[in-house]
Amino acid sequence: MICYCGSGKNFDECCQPFLDGEAKPQTAEELMRSRFSAYATCAVEYLLRSTHPSTRKFHKAEDIENWAKTNNWEKLEIVSKSNGEAKDTQGTVEFKAYFTDADGKAQIHHEKSNFRKELGKWFFVDGKVF
Ligand SMILES: [Zn+2]
Repeated sequence: MICYCGSGKNFDECCQPFLDGEAKPQTAEELMRSRFSAYATCAVEYLLRSTHPSTRKFHKAEDIENWAKTNNWEKLEIVSKSNGEAKDTQGTVEFKAYFTDADGKAQIHHEKSNFRKELGKWFFVDGKVF
């Protein structure tokens, strides 16, 4: 099965090992992609765990689950990124997440997210929604 994140790779060779905790994303983009796949598969725990502890309190498991479940996640487009490579400790990724909402309407979530790496692990910190 092709991965939800649109990498063109198989799910089990792309985001699945991240969601299962068997591997760690090496770049901010990989974390971003895995978080999209987590929405697509309703992996709420992963979404919380990959959110930085300083901002995690702003995200409720229940809200994430509702947002993940009610929408049908179609595709991810990476618009731009800066830093966030394996050697970096911070980075940004601007993306568009295409989805169909509960009313069957096509929607786009356009966001520029900030990521930070601590002790070798990338976290989503916060984002600006356009
Ligand atoms: Zn993927």
